[in-house]
Formats: sequence, structure tokens, C-alpha cells
Amino acid sequence: MASSSSSNGASAAGGQDESKRTRLDDSSLTIDNYIGGQKTAPQNGSYLKVVSPATGKVIANVANSTAADVNLAVAKAKEALKSWSAQTLKTRAAKAMKLHQLIEENAEMLAKTVVRENGKNMAEALASVAKANETCEWAAALPSMAQGKHMEVSRGVRCEEFRDPVGVVASICPFNFPIMVPFWTLPIALTLGNVMIMKPSEKTPITMSIVADLIKQAGYPDGVFQIVNGAVDVVNALCDNPGISAVTFVGSSKVAELVYKRCTALCKRVLALGGAKNHLVALPDCDVEMAASDVVSSFSGCAGQRCMAASVLLVVGEQPKLIEKIIEKTKALQRGQEAGQIGPVIDAASQTRILRILNDAERNGVKFLVDGRSWSSEAKEGTWVGPTVLQHSNKDDEALHVEIFGPVLSILQVATWEEALRIENDNPHGNAAGVYTQSGAAAEFFSSKFRAGMIGVNIGIPVPREPFSFGGLYGTLSKFGDTDITGDGGMEFFTTRRKVTTKWGKFKGAEGTGDDKAQFR
Ligand code: NAD
Repeated sequence: MASSSSSNGASAAGGQDESKRTRLDDSSLTIDNYIGGQKTAPQNGSYLKVVSPATGKVIANVANSTAADVNLAVAKAKEALKSWSAQTLKTRAAKAMKLHQLIEENAEMLAKTVVRENGKNMAEALASVAKANETCEWAAALPSMAQGKHMEVSRGVRCEEFRDPVGVVASICPFNFPIMVPFWTLPIALTLGNVMIMKPSEKTPITMSIVADLIKQAGYPDGVFQIVNGAVDVVNALCDNPGISAVTFVGSSKVAELVYKRCTALCKRVLALGGAKNHLVALPDCDVEMAASDVVSSFSGCAGQRCMAASVLLVVGEQPKLIEKIIEKTKALQRGQEAGQIGPVIDAASQTRILRILNDAERNGVKFLVDGRSWSSEAKEGTWVGPTVLQHSNKDDEALHVEIFGPVLSILQVATWEEALRIENDNPHGNAAGVYTQSGAAAEFFSSKFRAGMIGVNIGIPVPREPFSFGGLYGTLSKFGDTDITGDGGMEFFTTRRKVTTKWGKFKGAEGTGDDKAQFR
């Protein structure tokens, strides 16, 4: 887990006082801030440790910044905003295209960094880089989508609408997708003429520090994209700084709500995506093989650390074959970071919390169909929890209600589809839900009745890709604020609409010729 380390003086960085930097006792990698186009040490000289989830070893030290660093970044951002917002959309989109090319060229190196700092397996990490780049590709196409509109609203009176940038925006990110989640906002916000200050998770800051180099290489002017690393102090400063007009947050529900309230109290635009507890419903007519494969990869992929992961499987009626297949496929999963294997969970705090929930479940009589707890002790290093399948008979079990954020699936058998829907609807989260069925009518019915923002029909991870937007249901613990974060929701969030209504007098030269009235020659 990241822990505080005090300043004891050492090597140089970004023109800052050398004595202010922390000596790297057990790692040679320092992740500083990226401010005004320069790697910049935090003004207080404090760093946090970045720990590899697979080995438990310190792999870097990351700036533990404060409001002073945010103030500096905001000053640079305001300066950069003047000329960046004055560029044409086409010019800015060309930079997104260049960035897309650089991400593609460096995909393997970026993915290896994701593996190292986050714990994903290589296939998952490569996919996350590719998904990040899809948003970049979409942003490069914004000139054909963000043109605004115009119309003659009364005879001789024309109304035009322009999409203007919001200004200086902040993007606060979680640990679980070190590049994909930052790219939910970065390319869209920048292409639309905003300048951005990002705070990656202090647990996984390395990948985005490499991306900062690529952004410079792509030719973005200094100050257009900046990173202030750190933890709570940086988040609070980004919410409070009057120079920042809009804030996006992705992370746990508790912090999402704090950020939302803090920003709205200052009348800032804010979109805060929170946690999840996703329910999948298996109807009696489901395709057993497909449902079992999807459910297992959904709950165990990325070690269950996905806000789209299946968490509760509601099995309607007796379906022993489905449960057998889920057990068989789960038992086949291996520990490791090669393609198809299951990686570690992010840190010791997370591992301890997951094991505590599982141990309590056992004490309360929950049946373990697959018990992955042994991975924690079998692994010589790192923070591992094996894929675990629980079978519940008590609807009040804790594991059925809290976000576990680890490779754990809870199975609950229900007698009717009505009961399945009621349980899903009563869940205070509203990120994703899904139904497994061969019936189109049942699929349509469930799709319209689930209380979630992203719904799957025979899909275990129903992520809507661009131009569709990503986001849970408004009014649940999964989303505070309206609009969504990618696609056209992102375009809406990162722009304001300027409306111009125009009327002109008649063209004097044409008066009396008849041409001043006729529409067609
Ligand atoms: P987190 O809430 O602990 O941290 C997210 C960010 O907030 C980090 O940058 C962190 O430094 C900062 N932060 C943490 N505690 C804070 C506090 N008290 N005050 C201010 N800032 C604080 O989340 P995490 O553990 O990094 O990520 C996992 C969570 O993110 C899960 O709940 C997961 O469901 C959620 N998530 C949601 C989505 C979504 O789209 N809804 C996507 C990815 C992850």
C-alpha cells in the first residue's frame, strides 16, 4: 500500500530545489508531477511509495503533492487555455491523431507498465491500452460531430449554436485502469479545447507519467495537459480551486459523493462515477456454455477489480448444469500474469478486506463452491486472492450487498424472474446489469426494467463503446451528476453551448429587382 515517506534530500528534477527531493531507498524510479510541460517535484518534497501488487516490492516513489502544486498547475493551465482554446477543432483533432499513433507504437511498453503497477495480466493490459486508444480515435473524429447547429428559427432570423470549451478541467482517476480510465476524459476534453489537470491514482501513477511524455511528443503545447500526483490533498485542492471549472471523478461511491458535494457547493460542473454491485440474471432458457464462460470471465477478469464485473448471479429456478460449469471453469483458473491467468489484487489493504468478507461469510454459513483464499498464503510474495464462488441461502448475507472489488462471485437461486428483478432493483448501485436468455421478449423486458445505466443481453461486461457513452444510472451510488463520461456524454460534459441569434436587414442592392423576395431563381 502507498505510504508516506519524508524528504531527506537527493537528486534533481524539473528545476526544483534538489534538497527537497526524497532519496529513493528501495527504488530508482521517481514519478514527479508534470506541470507546464516539465517533470516537476512536489513543493513539499514528499513522496508516496508505489508497490507492485505481484511482488509487494516498492517499484517507484510518487509525488505526494499539495494545494501549492495544484495552484501552480492551474496558473500554467490558464495561460495555456488562451491559445489552445483559440485553435480550430481540426487542429486540435490532429494532435489526438498523433497521440493515437504514439500510443499504438508504444502499446506493449505501456501494457507492461500496467501489468507492473496494477497487476493485470498482459492480455488484459494490452486490451486496456487498445480501449484507451479507441477513445483517442473517437476524439480525433470530433470535427465531424461537435460542429454545433444552425437554423432559421423565424423568417430572416437565424440561430446558431457553438460548442465552446468549459475551460480548465480536472480528471481524478482510480487505480484499476491506469490508462483506460484516464483516456475516458483526456482526449475528448483536450480536443474540445479544454486544458486538463489530471490526478492518477497514487497506487498506479507510472503509466500516465509515460503518457505525459507521449503527449509532449505529439506536440500538445505545454500546460494543455498536466499531472498533479498525490492523494486526498490534491483531490480536495482540485475541487476547491476557483480556476478549475469542471471536475470528473471515477472511483469509490464514498469518495464520488464527497467530490460531487464539494464541487457542486462551489457551483462547478461535476460528474462523479462511483462503485458498483452488478447483478446478472440467468433465466432457465439460457445458453449454459455461453452464460458460464461469460460469468466466470466477468467476475474473475482483472482480479474482479472492474466496476463492470459480475458480482451477483441470480439463478432463476434449478440450474445445476450452469452451476457445475461455473465451478469447473473457475477451478481451471491459474494464478499469474500471463494471458488468461488471474493477477493479484492491488494491495494488502484490499486483500485483507476481501479475506475478511469471505471469512465472515464462512462463519455465517455461506457455502464455498470454489474457495480461492489459499492463493493468499500460497503466493510467496504479493497480494493475491483466488477466484471464489459463494452459494448463498440467506438474502441478507453481507457479500451479496457490499462491493467486494475482488474475484468473488455470489450465486443466489431465486424461484421466479420477478424475484430476480426485485433483488437487482433494490440494489443501491446502478452501474451494470445483465440477463442471460434465448428469448428476445424476455431480453427486451429485462433491459427496460433493470435499474442500471449499462445493460447486457448475453454479455458479461456490457461496456458501451463510442459513440455511446459510459456511465451508471443517475440517482444511484454508481453515478453522481448527470451526463456520461465518454462518447457524446463526454462531448456534452466538456463543452458549453453558445447560442447566437442573428437578423440582417435586406441587401439594398437587390431592392426592387424581385430577387430580394424569391428563394429560387
Ligand atoms: P478510490 O475512491 O479509493 O480512489 C479514487 C481516487 O480518489 C484516487 O485518485 C484517490 O487518490 C482519491 N481518493 C481516495 N480517497 C479519497 C478521499 N477520502 N478524499 C478525496 N480523494 C480520495 O477508488 P479506487 O480504490 O482507486 O478505485 C476502485 C473504485 O473505483 C471501485 O469502487 C470501483 O467500482 C470504482 N470504479 C468505478 C468506475 C465507474 O465507471 N463507475 C470505474 C472504475 C472504478
